[in-house]
Amino acid sequence: MTIRVSDLVLYLSCPRQVYFVSRGHKLNEATATRYIEHLLLKELAYKFPLLIKNDNLCKLSTHLSSIASDAQGELGAIEKSQIIGAVSNINVDDIVAGIENLIDALGRDVLLQRITPWEKEYQMHSDHFDMSGRPDKLVLIDGEIIPSIIKTGNKPEYGAWKDERIQLAAYALLIEETFNCPVSRGLIEYARHGEFRDVGIKQADKKMALRIKDRTQKVIDGTLPGKPRKVLCESCVFIDLCNVKKSLLSRLF
Ligand code: SF4
Repeated sequence: MTIRVSDLVLYLSCPRQVYFVSRGHKLNEATATRYIEHLLLKELAYKFPLLIKNDNLCKLSTHLSSIASDAQGELGAIEKSQIIGAVSNINVDDIVAGIENLIDALGRDVLLQRITPWEKEYQMHSDHFDMSGRPDKLVLIDGEIIPSIIKTGNKPEYGAWKDERIQLAAYALLIEETFNCPVSRGLIEYARHGEFRDVGIKQADKKMALRIKDRTQKVIDGTLPGKPRKVLCESCVFIDLCNVKKSLLSRLF
């Protein structure tokens, strides 16, 4: 079975979640306020290039309201109060301040070059690695095709989180095979902060992405992983399943 880059991302969040999802259990994330917040922020981030180009950042709040109202229609089962809660967790002033800092530091044209998609959610597949994926954007800078991902959580003080580097490296491998060109960097937009990072992708990151892909494959094929130490289990929908003894779990699925 072809592994998706999103499976790798889930594995890095918790390998056991891959195990349960691959056995038909639902993450049920669509009903969580945090997930709605993620969807709203991501849609908002897709508006950044046009708003910056037209000098219209002051309209960010209006755009957020309109995205929220569309989401209400599309995510039928969601309570209005959850959408309102998700919107109230998004600090538009922080986003505008972050983008204005970027414009001061990089210049409007350079920033636009780095966040304007050449392709949006372009589907790629590698026969060689038996892996597929769809980065949020492909950005074209001076003939170089660069994967770009939009993140809606917190940003690290410098650089990128390890799982983000591995995700970018996996997309780099797909771009290299699809377009037959080398990829040595990726871009991350931290939508919540209106911030953006340029991240080098090393050979070691690509090798790590392939190792994680192999481990993900093993879990999907039926190896129940141990409980990782550093994961947040309290809000996980699988907490009851996970508390069943490992030996019994293996027999249950
Ligand atoms: S309860 Fe914890 S260990 Fe189990 S799947 Fe959820 S996050 Fe992973």
